Amino acid sequence: MLTDKQVNLLKEKFNKSVYLNYDLSKSSWLNTGGLAKVFFKPENIAELSNFLKLLEENTKVLVIGAGSNLLIRDGGINGVVIKLGKNFSHISLLNENTIVAGAAALDKDVSSFALKNKIKNFEFLSCIPGSIGGAIRMNCGCYGEELFSLAISIQAIDKKGNLKVIPKSKIKYFYRGSDLSEDLIFLSVTLKGEKADEKYITKKISDLLQRKSEAQPSKIKTCGSTFKNPTKDPKKQAWQLIKNSDCLQLAFGDAQISPKHCNFLINKKSASSEDLEKLIYAIKEKVFDKTGIKLELELKIIGDPK
Ligand SMILES: Cc1cc2nc3c(=O)[nH]c(=O)nc-3n(C[C@H](O)[C@H](O)[C@H](O)COP(=O)(O)OP(=O)(O)OC[C@H]3O[C@@H](n4cnc5c(N)ncnc54)[C@H](O)[C@@H]3O)c2cc1C
Repeated sequence: MLTDKQVNLLKEKFNKSVYLNYDLSKSSWLNTGGLAKVFFKPENIAELSNFLKLLEENTKVLVIGAGSNLLIRDGGINGVVIKLGKNFSHISLLNENTIVAGAAALDKDVSSFALKNKIKNFEFLSCIPGSIGGAIRMNCGCYGEELFSLAISIQAIDKKGNLKVIPKSKIKYFYRGSDLSEDLIFLSVTLKGEKADEKYITKKISDLLQRKSEAQPSKIKTCGSTFKNPTKDPKKQAWQLIKNSDCLQLAFGDAQISPKHCNFLINKKSASSEDLEKLIYAIKEKVFDKTGIKLELELKIIGDPK
């Protein structure tokens, strides 16, 4: 827990980068959630490291990216929320087929950069609305590709302010996750693709975007797939289990199931995080009662209830 004395010290030392009682609903694609006691937007690694070194050991520290996979509870966060500033959104070429991308860079910008440099295998990133930090944490992916199939190494800082470079060989990764410590704040990633013809890459991006827009809702408040697919069985994908378990009419206030893709939950207008969480648990219960399968969340739920 952060005391007022600590809050004042952080504000005094990191004035322009610290926002007090920051409304986190602005930082989630679902547009719900309470306040962060301290919201910190570091401009560079030195500032981030100095800030982390000043925190007391028991301070709650959470990192957010683009907020496209986050349900932030209505009681907010009685601690520090870190969102990397614009200097962390650099994207550069290391050699002809290798890219270094800052954790605040958007996935789609990394995909566009790869296209511009005629490097393939980054196309799927144009379909994912998150940042590279969230992509690493989630091992995000679609259409048979995932972040760790491109990664060579991750650059990170731990919550004591120590910098680390972690080669992929030291990371166990799996569907929508890895064994990378929750204590790490990712700073950047090195990603390797293959040289290819620009026309091939452009066509692939456009095909994938088309597939996405046909299957998934857009321009609404959602956080994408709520639950992980429980198995590789194409007949037991999360959306099929939800559909076959009489869930489609479930709703709590404005928290509803997307009619276009039932693994996407939507905030139709003014749902609270509590409404959305109730919907999540109601779906889990119905699917379990019908199929005996316990759905696991892909969405990350953070913060305290109101
Ligand atoms: C319309 C829509 C479609 C989507 N389609 C897909 C899809 O096809 N495939 C897919 O995999 N996902 C999809 N998603 C989900 C989401 O975009 C991904 O999970 C994405 O990788 C999350 O990135 P983010 O930056 O938004 O992370 P956030 O939602 O901000 O955070 C997600 C997690 O990452 C952690 N995190 C973020 N930045 C850092 C950092 N710098 N260091 C350490 N941890 C960090 C957070 O603490 C949190 O645990 C979709 C979401 C939407 C809204």
